[in-house]
Amino acid sequence: MSVVDPRRRVPRTDAVLAEPQVAAASARLGRGLVKAAVAAAQERARRGELPAEHDAVVEAVLDALPSAATGLRPVLNATGVLLHTNLGRAPLSQAARAALDLAAGTCDVELDLATGGRGSRGASAIEALLAAVPGAAAAHLVNNGAAALAMAAMALATGTVDGRSPDAVRREIVIARGELVEIGDGFRIPELLTATGARLREVGTTNRVRRDDYAAAIGEQTAFVLKVHPSNFRITGFTRSAGIEELTGLGVPVVEDIGSGLLAPHPLLPDEPDAATALAQGATLVTASGDKLLGGPQAGLLLGAPGEGAELVQRIRRHPLARAMRVDKLTLAAFEATLRGPVPPTRVALDADAGALRARAQRLAARLVAHGVDATAVDSVATVGGGGAPGVTLPSAAVALPERFAAALRAGDPAVLGRLEHGRCLLDLRALTPEADEELAAAVLKAHHAD
Ligand SMILES: *Cc1c(COP(=O)(O)O)cnc(C)c1O
Repeated sequence: MSVVDPRRRVPRTDAVLAEPQVAAASARLGRGLVKAAVAAAQERARRGELPAEHDAVVEAVLDALPSAATGLRPVLNATGVLLHTNLGRAPLSQAARAALDLAAGTCDVELDLATGGRGSRGASAIEALLAAVPGAAAAHLVNNGAAALAMAAMALATGTVDGRSPDAVRREIVIARGELVEIGDGFRIPELLTATGARLREVGTTNRVRRDDYAAAIGEQTAFVLKVHPSNFRITGFTRSAGIEELTGLGVPVVEDIGSGLLAPHPLLPDEPDAATALAQGATLVTASGDKLLGGPQAGLLLGAPGEGAELVQRIRRHPLARAMRVDKLTLAAFEATLRGPVPPTRVALDADAGALRARAQRLAARLVAHGVDATAVDSVATVGGGGAPGVTLPSAAVALPERFAAALRAGDPAVLGRLEHGRCLLDLRALTPEADEELAAAVLKAHHAD
């Protein structure tokens, strides 16, 4: 009786790699990754888990390969939280994705093609931002909202002034005690500010602060008054705060960190500050994030009012550490396209009609039930998320599944992240575009069949 070498029975590596789709994957992902997938498929064929045939092995290889050479996996956000920091916040618009692809090659990010000389870096992104916020006279982009704040503190509240020693010029940032915000993951705005070397002068109490508190704290040492929007919490009850309008006229610049990046007021979010209003009310400088309600890539915005604000932006732009905070060409491209292109997905989700969401949930549930899944369409409540509008709830609709689906859906490709509520796994549709429903249904059916 002869012993057959089991290796001989599986398709050869070369033959699988020569298959056009596998070769294309090799070009996209790298040969190492693809060869490892081929070896794994051959091993499965050897163990009898897969027909030891060419087509079956090729299919298994293609199935196993990720869509890109990254450990990141795509996730459908069915949490009902529009801006989920753990999921990368705002999903980019098609326009922004196309711009990313363009900028990924070589591009004229800092070249003037008319003269062949050096151009102004990111000029067209800044132009788009100034067009979107006509009240701003100057703007600058940095890595994120935290960097925008850090730059404001470093450029305005630290360093030497008029040749005086560093200690004498460590200037103070006046801030209300109720606005000492922890952003997330243990990062705190007051610590971020003092890490730059600036000093904080806290005024008021946790729940109340008046204009007089600010006025009493302002002196020779004051660099600016900082207003920080409590974007991830709300204090209710016996509260009082001083608005921007009350703080202008105190003789020092007023910097407002609006957080979420709303450029203009939004009717659904009356309590969410926006850049246009802040500037109209007299803020000297406004800072914000690019990847929250603005719906763009991670970025930090600095917007200066005409006059002193524009001068401060210029000072920030020329600060030595501006180079360390500068955004790359990918961010510039995606940011500009977010502003110039169609309404980004985050804003579509924010404005989605609850009735339309309900109809989508019913259609999805009916389709899943037809395939034997225990699914029902239910009303749900979505939120904007840590990125803005705390306490605001948005009527939404979801497909409710048995709780055990949660883990199976997270393991899928794309993964689906739902929300557990009352022993059910809810797939909330508000943060998902209607185009994602097809993918969502396929993911649920796959999880159902794996069950
Ligand atoms: C989110 C936020 C920040 C931090 O912005 P990042 O872009 O996450 O760095 C700072 N301030 C406020 C008020 C925020 O909401």
